Amino acid sequence: MTDKFDFIREDVAGLQQAGLFINLRVMGSAADGWMVVDGRRVLNFCTNNYLGLANHPRMKEAATKAIETWGVGPAAVRSIAGTQALHVELERRLAAFKGVEDSLYVQCGFLANQSAIPPLVGADKASGAQDVIFSDRLNHASIIDGARLSGAKIMVYEHCDARDADRVIRENLPNFRRGLLVTDGVFSMDGDIAPLDELYEVAERYGVITMVDDAHGEGVLGGGKGIVHHFGLQGKFDVEVGTLSKAFGVVGGVIAGRKVVVDYIRQKARPFLFSSAVTPADTAACMAAVDLLEESSDLVERLWDNARYFKAGMERLGFDTGRSQTPIVPVMLGEAPLARDFSRKLFENGVFAMAIGFPTVPRGQARIRVMNTAAHTREDLDAGLATFERVGRELGVI
Ligand code: PMP
Repeated sequence: MTDKFDFIREDVAGLQQAGLFINLRVMGSAADGWMVVDGRRVLNFCTNNYLGLANHPRMKEAATKAIETWGVGPAAVRSIAGTQALHVELERRLAAFKGVEDSLYVQCGFLANQSAIPPLVGADKASGAQDVIFSDRLNHASIIDGARLSGAKIMVYEHCDARDADRVIRENLPNFRRGLLVTDGVFSMDGDIAPLDELYEVAERYGVITMVDDAHGEGVLGGGKGIVHHFGLQGKFDVEVGTLSKAFGVVGGVIAGRKVVVDYIRQKARPFLFSSAVTPADTAACMAAVDLLEESSDLVERLWDNARYFKAGMERLGFDTGRSQTPIVPVMLGEAPLARDFSRKLFENGVFAMAIGFPTVPRGQARIRVMNTAAHTREDLDAGLATFERVGRELGVI
């Protein structure tokens, strides 16, 4: 007899057969350089805890204090009774930190993109006018979903290719009401950086709105202030979207930029208007992260020192580390089964590093992705390199 969920069983069987079924590993300790994963203590290269803040004493103290004063949840959406003084203070601090006029703190980076894009571009049924989004071929899923949600036409330009962006805009913008150019700042699978200066010039030439998702640049590039600072474009790029769930070590998304734009998003963004505010503990911890970043650049420097050391070590061993310009180190292996075996053997040897294959990256470009952090010591990195060497020789990669 068939039942109405046979379609799920069939689809799941297909995913399992293709090796695409997701098995969740369970963490038994806080996000840190070493973690208990599926009951085993391993050297962790998987979390986006770039600055080691996820388990930092100052962050935990700020969160605990906030709970004592503010309780555990706001119990309202921001536009009704959920805007606590903490949220307003964090938004002010984030805007000052980034050197922009205003910022909006939302529940996560994914929702920051759903919040920021639809108010700026879309389609007007009454008049038939439609806007257009110019999007890098490898943009993150949350940008793509935000773009789809907006109802604007999406036109893709080749990855990190400002000349192609220029061509696509020149050929298509006249057919639409207005345009938005949107790009990831750092591309999380390769660790390469969008040519923001060139993209800015192109967008300016055509009067297109500019937006960058700096999820992997925040706390990492520009002395920690992000990709816009890295390129010296502060105050010029219209919208900077980011997340507080990676380098900041907490959770939340941020939309930063011109006051006129951020204020308008406050009026229009549905995740802001219809979903409850972030908890006081998270908000206060994010504020502690801004404090730490403003006090000293030590963690950012340590992250980069570690990344340079690890990358150089991997290259010396003969691994192909792709085109990364950031602490993300892809270890290019080619076929997905090899990447999977490699990751499994690393884990058996006490190192947790994720295999990434199709459809997250193109076929034939499967890899292990190593996320370097400030939470690692030199001894950790040496141990990691030794394990990569052992597994690499065993599998004939080096
Ligand atoms: N944008 C990019 C580029 C990302 O890599 C991520 C995280 N995977 C997000 C947005 C989503 O951020 P968050 O986890 O805070 O929802």
